Amino acid sequence: MPEFCDVALPVPLDMVFTYRVPVEATPVVGGRVLVPFRQQRLTGIVVELHDRKPSVKTKSVFSVLDAAPVFDEQLLRLGRWIADYYLAPIGEVFRTMLPLSAEFKRAVAYRITNEGQLTLHLAGMSGSSARSRRTPEEQAAEFRVLDYLAAQELAPGESIQVREESLRSATRVSKLILSVMVRKKWLAREDISAVRDATRTVKIALLKSADGKLNDNQRLLVETLAASGGRVLAETLQALAIPRTTLSTLVKRGLVEIIEEPAAFAVSRTKPRLPFAFDLNAAQQAALNRLREAVDERKFSGILLHGVTGSGKTAVYLAGMRAVLEAGRSAILLVPEIGLTPAVAADLQQIFGDEVAILHSALSDKERAQQWHRIKSGEARMVVGTRSAVFAPVADLALIIVDEEHDSSYKQEETPRYHARDVAVMRAKMANAAVVLGSATPSLESYFNARKNKYTLVELPDRVEQRPLPEVEIIDMRQEFQETGHEQVISRKLAAEIKDRFDRKEQVMVLLNRRGYSPVVLCRTCGKPLECQNCAITLTHHKREHKMVCHYCGYTAPVPKACVHCGSEYVYFLGTGSEKLEELLHGMFPKARIARLDRDTVRGHEDFERTLNALSEGELDLLVGTQMIAKGHDIHGVTLVGVVGADSALGLPDFRAAERTFQLLTQVAGRAGRGQSPGKVVLQTYFQDHYAVQYAARHDFAGFYDKELRFRSWMHYPPYSALANVLIRSDKLDEALQWSGTLGKWFEQNRHEGVRVLGPAAAPIMRLKRDYRYHFVLKSPSREKLNATLRAMLAYAAQRKIPRTQVIVDVDALWLM
Ligand SMILES: [Zn+2]
Ligand SMILES: [Zn+2]
Repeated sequence: MPEFCDVALPVPLDMVFTYRVPVEATPVVGGRVLVPFRQQRLTGIVVELHDRKPSVKTKSVFSVLDAAPVFDEQLLRLGRWIADYYLAPIGEVFRTMLPLSAEFKRAVAYRITNEGQLTLHLAGMSGSSARSRRTPEEQAAEFRVLDYLAAQELAPGESIQVREESLRSATRVSKLILSVMVRKKWLAREDISAVRDATRTVKIALLKSADGKLNDNQRLLVETLAASGGRVLAETLQALAIPRTTLSTLVKRGLVEIIEEPAAFAVSRTKPRLPFAFDLNAAQQAALNRLREAVDERKFSGILLHGVTGSGKTAVYLAGMRAVLEAGRSAILLVPEIGLTPAVAADLQQIFGDEVAILHSALSDKERAQQWHRIKSGEARMVVGTRSAVFAPVADLALIIVDEEHDSSYKQEETPRYHARDVAVMRAKMANAAVVLGSATPSLESYFNARKNKYTLVELPDRVEQRPLPEVEIIDMRQEFQETGHEQVISRKLAAEIKDRFDRKEQVMVLLNRRGYSPVVLCRTCGKPLECQNCAITLTHHKREHKMVCHYCGYTAPVPKACVHCGSEYVYFLGTGSEKLEELLHGMFPKARIARLDRDTVRGHEDFERTLNALSEGELDLLVGTQMIAKGHDIHGVTLVGVVGADSALGLPDFRAAERTFQLLTQVAGRAGRGQSPGKVVLQTYFQDHYAVQYAARHDFAGFYDKELRFRSWMHYPPYSALANVLIRSDKLDEALQWSGTLGKWFEQNRHEGVRVLGPAAAPIMRLKRDYRYHFVLKSPSREKLNATLRAMLAYAAQRKIPRTQVIVDVDALWLM
């Protein structure tokens, strides 16, 4: 039996930790263990068992939690790949991959120390200590705790630990008082976190054959045990309706023993399923055939499914998954955050029955853990979910589909900063499975890979039932300004088109990709804007809630009556957000039924779906909203889409701005004319000559990609080079400057062949959530060289004692802000 195990722990350190294997149970590679780490207990994943004695003293594993691995060989490999590719601590990667935190209950207990005893003793002799700065209430609370804990002693000097909840309810003290007492060393704080019963099985074992007299119940229990080889599950005995006292009597007599064991994972058998009919057109059928061939090859293959908006990609996905299910294998469908509405879930249930597991963001930790077990046991072989569903523990994976693969919600913006699309491709490679990336507006990276024949390009060039793509009319807002003499939110043309649709009883959507009422509040006297306390960001006025809100950190402030800088009363609210646009439209069309869809009106999937249903049922005439209205829903009555503000990103210092704008314009235009009547788009812009606007208006995907790829190639941006953003942050400006200077010098003094380093420079958002931010941008045609440089940089940062949490490495960063 190996003596040691290496454990990956969820801490921000790029290493694993060695522990001694306990005597009672041997851990398994890929299973969880509970271990002591500094003053805590942490759950980690065993990555290796070995006999290499470490040079430092090792502690022993507290408890082995799993008898079978929670990560199979493939998921362990995938986790290692993510840690390596994204330079993320391996333990934090595994924590992200495993949604089982609900099975682990955090708990803390307190014990009185000798110093605490002494304090209590001295207080008893000399009354209260007058030199204390504490209030009488605080002192009284502290002595209540000491008294209570001292009274719990088993024997003099033998203190006992009391759980935090019991202690607090018995003594009515705050957590703060307890932590002050711990600092004074009157109390010891102990982590007694434990694993919930769900992961343990309780068994009853027969120790020796019974001699002497047994009553009926006792005999039944002993005979049942003997008949089942000496051991049964606790539930089996419960089913026999034997009283608990019978069991405890036998335990006392030393005849039977109660054992707790880590649970293994039961795997259920699959049931055959009847075929399900899909109504596909010729192009969809051809795409499905290609997909099924890829699955049947049982080796890795990638398909980029480029289908225009309204071409019926979803039906192809579902038919493909259905075929996988009928073959008794598994599939994963990834969808962007907002797409998983209750209606979609109901459709999925109808097609896949109870063999589908749906993982959405509204699940509680407990529900998430339940779904994980359903998948792990093989009960659910079809998995549909957002980003982290790519880690679903399915067996015999045949197919992964990434719907709307260009969507930025697939990138996790915290450690580990993985991109679920790229992880999906890697997982498919490891599993010899097929991966399908689908979109009307594929990312530059995926399209580039298809051009280079890394993926097969499959196109759905037409809308279903030969419906035409909408006509797009561009309105130059600079000209509109010149002709009308003032800044317009809604152009004369768009207003006329909206009125025309209302007259024809047709529906309208208007996109303005900025929420709130006014995005800027400015003082006319001193010229200063009202900024967030924590960020270098202007606060947005939210009229209905009557407050100023930071869209980055959530900070709120009252609506100013005077300038906070100079006291002047001349404060002006500038610009238009979706809330103000809704109000303007109400004013222009008082009889129209208008609703708004953005993060302020939508709190969950239900709100989102309710509003879309109202539109779909014809209860609304106009829907105004942010990019949320552009996501792939299918409402037939909408014949006009107005785009009021979607191109402001083109003014930002961000190399992906053109790609994002093209995608947003194409996606929102795609909402028009999905029913019997043809659609039209009125696109208002201040950048009418920009190629992203021009190509989107012509529905010319290939044209846009060619132009954008040329730009990326000149500028050495992805997909022509690998890129990483390195952000240095601290809430102290001095520290942020010093650290970025230290790393800047290191980059300068060390040769990094084939890697370009730009920076340090202040990040475009220089202060965010109280942190001052500086960054470097690294580019290289070679990913190996880029990662080697980043790894060396992290090692140097650790050597110079720059905390790992303050150096953020974002490989394949989507945002450089
Ligand atoms: Zn002012
Ligand atoms: Zn803020």
